[in-house]
Amino acid sequence: MSPFQTFHDWFDEDPSIFSHWLEPAGVVEPKPEQRNPYLAPHCNIPPCEKKREVFYLELQEGCPHNTCAYCKTYKDIGFSNKKVEEVKANFDLTLNVLENRFNAPEEKSDLESITRFYLGGADILTYPTWDLVEVINYAKKKIEQRIGRKLSKISGYTTTSSLAGLSEFDLGYITRAGFNLAYWGLESGSSLVLDLVNKGYNPLFSEYVKNVISKLKQFPLRLSVFVMPGLGGIKYSPAHIIDTIEALATINPSWITFLSINPKNTEYDEIIKKDNDNRHMTPKEVKEQMIMIADGLEEKLLKSGENVDCLVAAYNKRITPVCRNPFTFRRRIKNSVKSNEGSK
Ligand code: SF4
Repeated sequence: MSPFQTFHDWFDEDPSIFSHWLEPAGVVEPKPEQRNPYLAPHCNIPPCEKKREVFYLELQEGCPHNTCAYCKTYKDIGFSNKKVEEVKANFDLTLNVLENRFNAPEEKSDLESITRFYLGGADILTYPTWDLVEVINYAKKKIEQRIGRKLSKISGYTTTSSLAGLSEFDLGYITRAGFNLAYWGLESGSSLVLDLVNKGYNPLFSEYVKNVISKLKQFPLRLSVFVMPGLGGIKYSPAHIIDTIEALATINPSWITFLSINPKNTEYDEIIKKDNDNRHMTPKEVKEQMIMIADGLEEKLLKSGENVDCLVAAYNKRITPVCRNPFTFRRRIKNSVKSNEGSK
């Protein structure tokens, strides 16, 4: 079956379905820096965390990897983990800012609206485990005391290599402290593509991901995975599709988000252009690639015999005229597997 025959089942371009992501009409969400004056201007916050109910706290400046050929975010910024005492002091000051911030006089303060806590940094799981646990415990206790209820999510960005590198011991402490959602920048499941873009090269990437997942399954950590359609250009498109389906089926995450690449003035652009057999993919090709990945993943996940509840989506189509996501969509893959226990 052609991928396009399943297109209308799969995708919906009606913008109203993104109401959970976009600001409701008439409501202007405050900018993160209005709510935490101690955030660096380049602090990377996923769009779904840019909400009034999220408390931001930055733990890192720059990126500990800083090698990805398509990424300019931290190119001129040195990496450092902020000291725990500095992080705690910023937290206390931000708590006071939010306590005294009201969208309108009759509304709740921004602090009373908080339900989630976002740890800012390019790869939060490279922050030393004991320091991370100390910061989470300190902040969680104070926020929960003030708002009188438990936080629903504590989240941050991380990478495949950091998830692979953390011991079960570390993961146990971090998740027990309450860290329960990792934004995982997978980008591709293909070692060829990852090698091309300098994103850490592991020729046995699929085995690497399997080992990561068999370790993570023991912990209450939900995964939100980012994939870059079009990454690697037209030459690596088959590998990108096949291997990304494989990796995502292994991960079985709660959320998958397709991002756009913005290759302008990057090393990635030069890599693609100097290979005469390669080129950037067109928006139409990027769209077809997303459909093939999503369809292939659905087929694999539904056959896997595992419980599946995964929201696959692309949200932003206005990043760049090259390699852009040409459309937005949202689709849920769901499959509940009944346990045999107690049925005999
Ligand atoms: S790990 Fe993330 S932030 Fe760091 S260079 Fe790569 S894409 Fe950029």
